[in-house]
Amino acid sequence: MIRFWPVLVIIAAFGLPWLPGLPLFWVTLGNEIGIAAIVATGLVILTGIGGMTSFAQASFMGFGAYATAILSTRYGVSPWLGLPAALLASGIAALAIGAITLRLRAHYLALGTLAWSVSLYYLFGTLDLVGRNDGISSIPPLQLAGVKFVDVRQSFTLIALALLASLWASRNLLDSRWGRAIRALRGGSVAAASFGVNIAAARMLAFVYAAVLAGLAGWLFAHLQRAVNPTPFGLNASIEYLLMTVIGGAAQLPGALLGAGLVVIVNDRLQDWLPLLLGHAGNFEVIVFGLLLVLVLQFAPSGLWPLIARRTAATRHTIGTIALPKRATPAPGPALEVSGLRKRFGGLVAVADLTFSLSAREIIGLIGPNGAGKSTSFNLLTGVTKPDAGTVRLAGRDVTGLSAPAMARLGVARSFQHVKLAASMSVIENVVLGAHLRGNASPIAGVFRQDRAEEAALFGEAMRQLERVGLAELADRPATSLALGQQRIVEIARALCLDPSLLLLDEPAAGLRHAEKQALAELLRKLAAEGMAILLVEHDMEFVMNLAARLVVMDFGTRIAEGPPAEVRRNPAVIEAYLGSAA
Ligand code: ADP
Ligand code: MG
Repeated sequence: MIRFWPVLVIIAAFGLPWLPGLPLFWVTLGNEIGIAAIVATGLVILTGIGGMTSFAQASFMGFGAYATAILSTRYGVSPWLGLPAALLASGIAALAIGAITLRLRAHYLALGTLAWSVSLYYLFGTLDLVGRNDGISSIPPLQLAGVKFVDVRQSFTLIALALLASLWASRNLLDSRWGRAIRALRGGSVAAASFGVNIAAARMLAFVYAAVLAGLAGWLFAHLQRAVNPTPFGLNASIEYLLMTVIGGAAQLPGALLGAGLVVIVNDRLQDWLPLLLGHAGNFEVIVFGLLLVLVLQFAPSGLWPLIARRTAATRHTIGTIALPKRATPAPGPALEVSGLRKRFGGLVAVADLTFSLSAREIIGLIGPNGAGKSTSFNLLTGVTKPDAGTVRLAGRDVTGLSAPAMARLGVARSFQHVKLAASMSVIENVVLGAHLRGNASPIAGVFRQDRAEEAALFGEAMRQLERVGLAELADRPATSLALGQQRIVEIARALCLDPSLLLLDEPAAGLRHAEKQALAELLRKLAAEGMAILLVEHDMEFVMNLAARLVVMDFGTRIAEGPPAEVRRNPAVIEAYLGSAA
């Protein structure tokens, strides 16, 4: 299928600069916008989507620009071979800087990158290798089939094609297994980690990818300007790139071009107008941009692009029919053995001493009043929180203290009491995250779209699980547009995508109507019959008593009773602690 807009952009890339009567000045401005938009595209993925703020994008652009400048002026290397060198230089610099800095979160990360930006600016300005503050000049222009790209119109075409390639690669990345991992980072990474995503790797991927795009922009810049010095790679420039991303619409790729266009044009106009207005020259644009940023954040916090394109159509995913390989059916015997589990938060002992076991094909209800420690127990059993004492065994193997991704790999899947779905993703995209570990396509395969067969199989699996829970019709809806009860069911479909041997559900029936509860009970019975071990935290007593063969009752972090529902119901301690207080 030929998509319409890339064809249009390619025609524009070649035709636009030659438009009769178009002042050359606008073409020059267009070139500036295009290069900036490439940097901003990387920032959309890093900041807008991945939630990591970087004040160092201009520095990464510098690595790319200097790499190709040094190679082409000192060693006579062809500028075309300078391209992979530039991408590699920015990528490796990001890998090194990221390894030190990405441990930091939120504002601290922003400050960390800011520090790098300032240091690298001074480094560029003092290193002899890169010509200190004078930089490197006489950089050879790009040449193709005898044509030298020295003319701004030819440069325009080249830049437009590079931007198009960047947008294409970025869209592919976002629409891949690793791209979904990056998209799931925003708003807490617990869910992603619980389905096996290596959070540190996903963050690093976004960081390096954004730097590589900045390196591409740096390479273009070096060969089109034919000279480089530290100024365009300083903190001011980095702030402008961030501004473009925020103003354009931080979470959407077209926002990068919109933001770059606005900032470059406004910047250019202001340099003419402000001195007239204020009577003398100076860096007053900074103040105007500051105001502009405050206004955008106030009135259009998601940037301006969403105002232009109200709703982006849901991405169409190919739903494959080839089934994914399944985990071996677990041997009969205890699937989960918990013994003496303990967790303290400061002065509060949330889980004091929890002991119970659960077999394959069994459904157990974990009940108890609010604050009894049920959700904390779930976090301890799934590797989200590390226990202070006690052991957890999975099919006989000691797994105490393993990480959430490691537990996911061993077949433990869960849902959350407070629903954790990515708001920016559709229902099926959220569900397919559950199958993250059942694919193995690399980010590079994703960028070049070599992952389509695997993706179709993963989406096929997600669709089957959605059909199983009865939500197939809502697959393409934004996940958070569903009723809360349905979102819980989406979480179950996501958990099933992991092909779990142990399923932990935290209040799955909350917010469901009677018929929906019955359908859920039916599904859970069927899953247990197929060999799954299911641990259920539930407040709806009728629901859990009809479903579970055994109940484990918790109060103040300990097990106060255990047994068949009918027996537990008559237990005086339970009546006292739980049913009594509810009655
Ligand atoms: P339940 O799910 O049974 O209602 P929780 O496991 O959520 O109970 O909470 C048990 C106790 O531990 C509560 O008193 C709660 O406030 C406390 N708690 C839970 N998580 C944390 C945390 N991360 N930090 C401090 N206290 C916590
Ligand atoms: Mg809870």
